[in-house]
Amino acid sequence: MSGGTAPLAGRTALVSGGGSGLGAAIARALLADGARVVITGRNEQALKETASRLGPGVIHRVCDVSRPESVEALAESLADEEVSILVNNAGIAGPVAPLTEISAGDWDEVFDINVRGVFLMCRAFLPAMTARGAGDVINIASVSGKRPLLRRTPYCASKMAVIGLTTTLAGEVGPSGVTVNSLSPGPVAGPRMERNFRLEAERTGSSYAKAEEAFVSRSALGRMVTEDEVGAAVGAMLRMPGLCGADIDLSAGMVAR
Ligand code: NAD
Repeated sequence: MSGGTAPLAGRTALVSGGGSGLGAAIARALLADGARVVITGRNEQALKETASRLGPGVIHRVCDVSRPESVEALAESLADEEVSILVNNAGIAGPVAPLTEISAGDWDEVFDINVRGVFLMCRAFLPAMTARGAGDVINIASVSGKRPLLRRTPYCASKMAVIGLTTTLAGEVGPSGVTVNSLSPGPVAGPRMERNFRLEAERTGSSYAKAEEAFVSRSALGRMVTEDEVGAAVGAMLRMPGLCGADIDLSAGMVAR
């Protein structure tokens, strides 16, 4: 950054699922805003490659956000870092099937990572923030947490739970000076959506282009969001004084078909 102090200078941000996709883009945006960044996730190789691609100022730690002992070990290893920004981005899409065909194991895996993971990370990192009287948590939800996406019940329900957790927790810790908000991106251009479009095209016997159009046509912008737009949105939310308990849409969902 040039001309003046970077907005996040002197702060440390922890981004879960930071080894790939949106997490890596969020890490890049926060780094550009002057933060020191810790990326965490399950895949050590991806974390290493992303950290070295992003350059100095980024460190990585392996952690499975769905496992309490793994999250506690992460918090302990970062005790000296004064993490004051927590971005809970790690998440999985889960099965694509009618609810009656979804196994209990698949259901639990989505909730363990998408919801329990956010709970465990907040539980581990909030006490230090509330004790200091400052900090910001941003949970990556999804427009699927507000508009139904057929055959993705566990994912949609898990993201609705993330939004509920966000607004409730905001009221609990807001008075201490810590903000909690969520960001709900519409479909983001990248490997996850490409896989979705391929599966949808196979399922419906249509083309990849038609499957893509069916998704994109129900986004407010009429196009996919970019990973960099998601990163920039997280940076912008951190610069909005007084933002607490909000869920912000990036290209809101319009109607489900
Ligand atoms: P991705 O699969 O590229 O990244 C998810 C990351 O989470 C990976 O790095 C993975 O290793 C990590 N992860 C998975 N399980 C984990 C666990 N148990 N512990 C720690 N890390 C774990 O997906 P993405 O598209 O970058 O999605 C990131 C987030 O954004 C997710 O929460 C997703 O639901 C949400 N989202 C994505 C889109 C989209 O279109 N891609 C849209 C809206 C919301």
